[in-house]
Amino acid sequence: MSVLEFFNTLTRKKEEFHSIRKGHVTLYTCGPTVYNYAHIGNFRAYVFGDLLKRYLKYKGYSVRHAMNLTDVDDKTIKGAVAEGVSLKEFTERYSKFFFEDVKTLNIQPADVYPKATGHIPEMVGIIKKLLANGVAYQTSDGIYFAIKKFDGYGRLALLEKTQLIEGARVSRDEYDKESVQDFALWKFWDKEDGDVFWETEIGKGRPGWHIECSAMSTKYLGQPFDMHTGGVDLIFPHHENEISQSEGAEGRKFVNFWLHCAHLVVDRKKMSKSLGNFYTLRDVLQRGSSPMAIRYLLLSTHYRQQLNFTFDEVKAAERTVDSLVDFIRRLREVSGSAASADREAVAKLGAKALEGFEQALDDDLEISPALAAVHEYAHDVNRLLAAGRLDKESAAHVIGVMEKFDSVLGVMGYVEEEIPTDVKALIDKREAARKAGDWREADRIREVLRQQGVILEDAKEGVRWRRFSQS
Ligand code: AMP
Ligand code: ZN
Repeated sequence: MSVLEFFNTLTRKKEEFHSIRKGHVTLYTCGPTVYNYAHIGNFRAYVFGDLLKRYLKYKGYSVRHAMNLTDVDDKTIKGAVAEGVSLKEFTERYSKFFFEDVKTLNIQPADVYPKATGHIPEMVGIIKKLLANGVAYQTSDGIYFAIKKFDGYGRLALLEKTQLIEGARVSRDEYDKESVQDFALWKFWDKEDGDVFWETEIGKGRPGWHIECSAMSTKYLGQPFDMHTGGVDLIFPHHENEISQSEGAEGRKFVNFWLHCAHLVVDRKKMSKSLGNFYTLRDVLQRGSSPMAIRYLLLSTHYRQQLNFTFDEVKAAERTVDSLVDFIRRLREVSGSAASADREAVAKLGAKALEGFEQALDDDLEISPALAAVHEYAHDVNRLLAAGRLDKESAAHVIGVMEKFDSVLGVMGYVEEEIPTDVKALIDKREAARKAGDWREADRIREVLRQQGVILEDAKEGVRWRRFSQS
């Protein structure tokens, strides 16, 4: 029996995992800043969080998962002002898109999705404690965290003490290691904020980005809680600042395990909105890729390794997922008994594959050997299937094993069934539009079907369809 270990960014070591409460894990993932569509780099971070959560459940833990929505910060305010719409209207639009994408990628929803704008009193509470503890101070434009006053600032990001500049301040939410400075907890109202402000005991203004996560994570998960995830870009300053705020206020540990995923890159550069080298999930689907191929691609590289995104890789992932789905479909077709059925051999293969899968994932979610165990199993069973050595009972057993794998991977949840008449009518309509060269209409119908959970693939033999079911 292997033990469950994770690489903890806090110690830069693999550590055996123990939860604070037996059998129960509290998990927080920094959610999206809802000012734009999330790109597939962002979804690498969320699919990683989903893989972690599903595996913890596979291991028998119950998981309480909170993911925030950053619906007030420098970027959301800027976006709303530029469009001349209210912050609420602006952020609700992108929150809706985010939840649609989460569903498309078969990411299990969090238990709570707290919004920053709904937690101002909690943030004010923490800031008041920080002021009382002497680790925060007020200036003319806001309230700042005094990094020199907090022992241990820089532990997560491995900052040198000499990097800490006393008295220098940064008011922006995002900054890099060049500006390790006192950071804003609360920003007093400025005309650029328009009508975005709260009248509070600590003054009229709005929160800094970092305090939002400190307030929302501990409100829903307690302090300390078990695990906190995000992409590596969040280690500094966001997570460093979350630790200093929560520990500076409460005087006790904030989080036991910090897990960070490496970036999804394009031509060796981080996919990001600021570099303009990003694809949204919708961009990729528009090119005819299936959501499960994208999910498979996002999870099939170990989370601490960079993932280089290419459309060739999406195609390869598509073939892999197709072969697994096809394998399950053929297992479903096995009927009756086979004279030479070898149930014992099938059971042995299943036990070996499950053991290999678990041993790999126990080791800091080593995904490659885990997937190898799945594919080897499918390959071996396929040989028995081709030789007519599977009967209905052993086929059902194999499907059960595949479902166990898929409770973690979440990529095989397609169910083929007879085509419903309304779906058929839309597919025919789309075909007619394609023949007439009306690509816009064809794309529109594809999107309508997608919203109904139906994915179309244009294959050589014609249009194939699949219903996507959440597993
Ligand atoms: P943001 O909306 O920018 O706060 O990012 C949301 C999440 O996506 C965070 O966990 C980021 O670390 C993560 N993220 C952003 N860009 C990438 C990328 N190219 N690859 C992997 N994760 C990313
Ligand atoms: Zn956060």
